[in-house]
Amino acid sequence: MSTENNSETLFNSSIKILTDLIAFKTISGEDNSSLIDYCDGILISLGAQSFRTYDDEKKRVNLFSSFKSKKSNGKKPIIFSGHTDVVPVSKGWSADPFTATIKNDKLYGRGSCDMKGFIACVLAYAPIFSNSNLDRDIHFSFTFDEETACLGAPILINELVKRGINNGICIIGEPTNMKIIDAHKGCYEYTTYFEGLAGHSSQPHKGVSAVEYASKYVNKLIELRDRLKERQPKDSIFDPPYSTLQIGGIFGGIAHNVIADKCYVNWETRPVIKEDGIFLNSEIDKYATEILLPEMRKVFSDSSIKKKIIGEVIGFDRENDSKACEFVSNITGDNSREVVSFGTEAGLFQEIGISTVVCGPGSIQQAHKIDEFIELNELKKCLKFLEGVKNKSIN
Ligand SMILES: [Zn+2]
Repeated sequence: MSTENNSETLFNSSIKILTDLIAFKTISGEDNSSLIDYCDGILISLGAQSFRTYDDEKKRVNLFSSFKSKKSNGKKPIIFSGHTDVVPVSKGWSADPFTATIKNDKLYGRGSCDMKGFIACVLAYAPIFSNSNLDRDIHFSFTFDEETACLGAPILINELVKRGINNGICIIGEPTNMKIIDAHKGCYEYTTYFEGLAGHSSQPHKGVSAVEYASKYVNKLIELRDRLKERQPKDSIFDPPYSTLQIGGIFGGIAHNVIADKCYVNWETRPVIKEDGIFLNSEIDKYATEILLPEMRKVFSDSSIKKKIIGEVIGFDRENDSKACEFVSNITGDNSREVVSFGTEAGLFQEIGISTVVCGPGSIQQAHKIDEFIELNELKKCLKFLEGVKNKSIN
C-alpha cells in the first residue's frame, strides 16, 4: 500500500471512531462506561494492557491502557491523555449534537473538538503503535468528569503513583490547534454556607443574620483580592499577571422584615501560583473561624460557616527545559510556547513528576459552543503528529 493510501485509511478510521465516540452521550457527571468499554475494546484487541479506576458509585470510569515497549532503552514513556466527558448541550443546535455530521470540511458534534477528536486520533493510530517495534511504553489515559473541576483524573493519578508510573511525557490533547501550551492558572471554586438564627427584623439583636455575615465574608474576600494583586510574581506570564478572585453569587433571605437564617456565597479564584491559593484559603478561613463565627455564636451557639470545595483544578506551571515541550517541538518544528485561560488536567500530571504539555487538534473557540466542530484538517495534523511520535518511539 502506498503511504498516501495508508494516511487515507488512517484518516477515515479517525472519522469513523470520532463518529462513534460522539454518539456516546458522556455528559459530565453521567455514566461513561460504554464509551470506556469501546475504547478499551479497541486497545485490548491490539494487545494493550488496561486497568480502570472509578468514582465512589462505580458509575464513571477512568481507563489507563498501555502498549509495553518491546525493548527498553531508557526512553521516557509517552502518555496520551484525554477526558471523555463533554459539557451539556443547550438548545439551538442545527443538527443532533450526538450524531457526527460532516459539512464543508468540518465535523460537527458535541465533543468533536473538546476533546473526542484527539481520542479518536490516538485510537485510530493505535494499530500502528501496536505493530511497531516500540522502544518505550505508550500509554492512553482517558478520564471522566474533567469539565466539572477534574474529578476523575486525581483518582487515576493516585493509582499511577501506586503503580510507579510517575515518570514520562504526558500529552494532553485539549484543542490548541496543535500549538504548544505550557502553562495555565489554577481554577478553584467554592461555596460558603452561613447558618444563623431567623427572627423578626424589629428585634435584630435576637437573631443572627446569615445574609449580613455572608456580606462581611464577601467584603473580606474583596479585600484579599487586592492583596493578591500585590503578591503578583515579578515574572508572571499570565494576563492579568496576578491571581484573580470573583464572587459569582450571593443567595439568601426570604423577606424584607425577616432575619435570614441561611445564605450562601459562590466564589472562585484563579491562582497564578499555588502559594496564592494557600494564602487566600488560610486568610479567609481564619477570618471566618476567628472573627465571624465567635460573633455569631455569641447570640446563637449553633451558628455555622462551612466552606465547600466545588473543585480545585491546580495550575499548570511553566518549566524551563520541559522535556514534553521539547519532544513536541522536535516533531512539529514549532518552538512557540503559549499560555491559555482554561484549566486542564496538566497540573495534576505535572505534580507527580510527569513532564506535561497541552497540545491537541481543534480550536478552543469551538469548545462548549452550539454547533461545536473540528476542522478535518486538524485531525490530519494530529495524525501526522502521532506519526512523529511513533518515529521517535522505535529504534
Ligand atoms: Zn476539554
